[in-house]
Amino acid sequence: MIFQNARVLTFDATNRVLDRGAVAIRHDGTIGGVYEAENAPRAAPGEEVVDVRGKLLMPALINCHTHLYSTLARGIALPGRAPRNFLEILKKLWWRLDRALNEEDVYQSAMVGLIDAAKCGVGTLVDHHSSPNACPGSLDRLEQAFREVGVRGVLCYETTDRNGPVRAREGLRENVRFLERLRGQPSDGLVAGSFGLHASFTLGDRTLRACVEAAKSLGAGFHVHVAEDRCDVVQARQRVRKSPVGRLLDLGVLDERALAAHCVHVNARDIAQLACHRINVVHNPQSNCNNAVGTAKLLEMMEHGVLVGLGSDGYSPRMWEEFKAALHLQKLRRRDPHVGSAEVYAAALLNNRTIAQKIWGMQLGQIEPGAQADLILVDYYPPTPLHSENLFGHILFGIANAPVDSLLVRGRYVIRGKECVTVDERAVAEKAASHARALWERF
Ligand SMILES: [Zn+2]
Repeated sequence: MIFQNARVLTFDATNRVLDRGAVAIRHDGTIGGVYEAENAPRAAPGEEVVDVRGKLLMPALINCHTHLYSTLARGIALPGRAPRNFLEILKKLWWRLDRALNEEDVYQSAMVGLIDAAKCGVGTLVDHHSSPNACPGSLDRLEQAFREVGVRGVLCYETTDRNGPVRAREGLRENVRFLERLRGQPSDGLVAGSFGLHASFTLGDRTLRACVEAAKSLGAGFHVHVAEDRCDVVQARQRVRKSPVGRLLDLGVLDERALAAHCVHVNARDIAQLACHRINVVHNPQSNCNNAVGTAKLLEMMEHGVLVGLGSDGYSPRMWEEFKAALHLQKLRRRDPHVGSAEVYAAALLNNRTIAQKIWGMQLGQIEPGAQADLILVDYYPPTPLHSENLFGHILFGIANAPVDSLLVRGRYVIRGKECVTVDERAVAEKAASHARALWERF
């Protein structure tokens, strides 16, 4: 397939912008070539040629931390007094919701969440799943949803001691089972796994040690919430006189394959350790605002060399909203309108792809020969000059607000002309709504 007449943002090594470009996609779902329009190769007999009439073509977006199981909570009513802090939000909403989920809810919530993400131009999601009363096999149902919608995913199950030792063992086993199955089959690059842990404050040493031991032979990193709220820090200090970062490092959970979501309440020593051990931190600004847990020290972490990517924590499918929230929070925190643009740009567009590349060992997030053809077409026709030096301003004030016309993952359409072409979006929503009704009754 060849896309012609596109404004191409390559995000390649020289960050080329082509005002009138063409991009060829190979049958194996990788990019075959990137050309100025006049140098574009002639299509082979039978090859599809798409004239995109000046639309913007850029790499699909990546969400490095989300919870698809939260989708069916949309509009749910919480009984009793409204939660007043992070722990109450967990106890009154998320830990009740996850216990109420059955296997079919897991699949339905993922289908809805994945269609939403795809329509916002997100081609890769790193998910963190929990359904304690429907744990064994839950990652298979999630995988089924990823495959049906056709977007890329990294899956894990949230191991925790908060539901007792039997459930903790089940969580561990679900990660091991899924990772072993993935290792035993040739990878098609669509679905990968990590080893899920909830957070330091709901995990005892015995379970953490068992998870580290079990993960040794599986070749996957841990995906864990770290210092999201102050309660995680207080609990780790009381338990072992360490910070959550220090505790998880000493137990062997955090290494260069690990994804540490949030890291809001980290001190200078934690930041130095996150950088030194090359741990992948994922910032989730809108969720942090919504839960009123604090503002991550994004600038300090990046100044000290920590690799920080961007996620949504299930708050929104739209990564550009996270991009904007991250920027605004840092400006407010420093009370300086000049800060944050380089860091937020790096987190969303460069670091997220580095994290995804580390997991898959494939080239993602750039348009150059050999890279995966995960692409979006955007209805953005710049009213001012656009070049590689002013991309940030165009993203913030233009591209972020423009409709996503199409999403391709591995060179295959998932969204085309703003419609999901892999599954029937309306039928999925109707089915999900009937499951949500029953779920809310059990909640
Ligand atoms: Zn989370």
